[in-house]
Amino acid sequence: MIIVPLGVASATPTAKRHLSSTALWRDGSVYLFDCGENAQMRALQAGLKRSKIDHIFISHMDGDHFFGLPGLVSTMQLQRRENNLYIYGPEGLKEFLAASLKAAGIELMFEIIFKELKDGFEHEIILDDPEFYVEARPLEHKSLCIGYRFQEKDKPGKVDAKKAEELGITNDAQFKTLKAGEDVTLEDGTVVHSADIVGEPKKGDSFAYVTDTLFSVNSLKLAYKASVLYHEATFDQNLKDKAEETYHSTAEDAATIAQKAEVQRLVITHFSARYTNQFVLLKEARKIFPDTWVATELRPIMTDPEHERGIIKAKIPIEPIQKPGGRGGRNQGGGNRRGGGGKGKYFRPRKRFDDRGDRGGRSGGGRGYDNRGGGGGRSYDNRGGGGRSYDNRGSGGRSYDNRGSSGGGRSYDNRDNRGSSGGGRDYDNRNTGGGRDYDNRGGGRDYDNRGSGGRDFDNRDRRSDSRDDRYDNRNRDQQNRDRDRSNKDSDKDNDQSNLPIKPRAPFDDFDRF
Ligand SMILES: [Zn+2]
Repeated sequence: MIIVPLGVASATPTAKRHLSSTALWRDGSVYLFDCGENAQMRALQAGLKRSKIDHIFISHMDGDHFFGLPGLVSTMQLQRRENNLYIYGPEGLKEFLAASLKAAGIELMFEIIFKELKDGFEHEIILDDPEFYVEARPLEHKSLCIGYRFQEKDKPGKVDAKKAEELGITNDAQFKTLKAGEDVTLEDGTVVHSADIVGEPKKGDSFAYVTDTLFSVNSLKLAYKASVLYHEATFDQNLKDKAEETYHSTAEDAATIAQKAEVQRLVITHFSARYTNQFVLLKEARKIFPDTWVATELRPIMTDPEHERGIIKAKIPIEPIQKPGGRGGRNQGGGNRRGGGGKGKYFRPRKRFDDRGDRGGRSGGGRGYDNRGGGGGRSYDNRGGGGRSYDNRGSGGRSYDNRGSSGGGRSYDNRDNRGSSGGGRDYDNRNTGGGRDYDNRGGGRDYDNRGSGGRDFDNRDRRSDSRDDRYDNRNRDQQNRDRDRSNKDSDKDNDQSNLPIKPRAPFDDFDRF
């Protein structure tokens, strides 16, 4: 089986990450686990046919996990689908989908068969096929959240036909009997033992899908000896409190489940938007469970690479794997050095496709202020681009976290950088789209200025040349200032120091999902 992450963000999409959805390809069919916005688009980009999706499993009713359903179903209708579609998940899905389709005036020409699970269920085989089955167990989230395990049944061992013939087996019926595990007595009374000519049965592969949840016993059960455990790791251990408060797992939780369940491989996903570098989480998980990978959108994970390589081909470039270590910027979270240009121990170098991501490194001169927190302190978090990008989350004293490197257009923390990396420099510049980038997750000019404090670098408006900029001005007291468009040219009008501001920790609104 081949697992293709279609979206790895938690709660809110970022410019680089889409909402939760994961495809499992097996023998030509596609099984979808969660269906966040953009799932159908990402499936297409991954090289997966939407018409091949017959079964969709929804974990829970947080929008980031199922809002893609109406769109996908509408597309299926436009594609003149005829086959039944099976949707599994918590109670309420059917109602939701019916209302969405009704509002859009869509009458389906194919049938959707729902299998809804109610709060309080313990364990259920929700799909049983001759070759595999899917089981469901409740996880621990704030609402009913379902974990799934897709389990291939063991395949019978191969019959050694030549040996069978040598032993006197002549007809098909006898072969079948042997294959079924029974011995055959020949006319002359000789017994041919099944075990002598039938090889060991082949263990079926398995995929456990566990998101969103606290560390839970049912996760262990679902994951037990799985080929691939696909587990959320919304936070790192420093934010354990936050994880508990929001019913999510840390990377360490995910790794502990993987270790206890003796899985073959752990793949972590569902990253909080605060981690522009998910390798912080990978590093944490690998300390406990070394066979951990980080889910990368559209990059297939194969349980049998020898036979499966090349089956799924993405139609767009996939984010290259960057090694987490190396020279370059320092990372706030755990002192994890990363971003260097050397060849990684764990990551083979990838072909670079284009230069889309590379804008940051070269965009010296741009200024990007990401000023989430409040307070009057100065703290420069310069993760990305070569220009200036202030990420001023906290407050208080001064803390310069200069992860990338500013100046000179070199920035070693250059995650997006698929394109150029001349001279052996490998820029890990995830965020900075165009040098001017206020929320440096996004691209281009996109200001996301969530917090704001007294005086800080929350200076969207200071920039007099920002006509094209879009402001995402969530924290503001809107009634007071909705001036982003009208006043941006005037510095005078933009002094925010007197605005009534309700300080808020960044991401608070997001982390609940
Ligand atoms: Zn979620």
